[in-house]
Amino acid sequence: MTKDEKKCLGKIADLGCSLCRHQGNEGTPAELHHIRRSGIRSRSPIIPLCPFHHRGANTSIHTGRKWFEKHYGITEEELLEQTKALLNE
Ligand SMILES: [Zn+2]
Ligand SMILES: [Zn+2]
Repeated sequence: MTKDEKKCLGKIADLGCSLCRHQGNEGTPAELHHIRRSGIRSRSPIIPLCPFHHRGANTSIHTGRKWFEKHYGITEEELLEQTKALLNE
């Protein structure tokens, strides 16, 4: 990983959980979640999610993407768009 890439990942994490933000709670400490698409994993887009929303047993994106979208009313892709917009500010 290059220095720039590390810096970029740090910036993403510093935004705080994107779903908490969507729910009106900014700045929840976040982990990085790779959005799975076909292709190379290291190039997959990344969004910040707190542990609760990232890997909680029944509360997270890893519970299942469909479940997540239905339960929270927002998709990974929408969270990614939000994340990108914030990074460009
Ligand atoms: Zn969260
Ligand atoms: Zn993940």
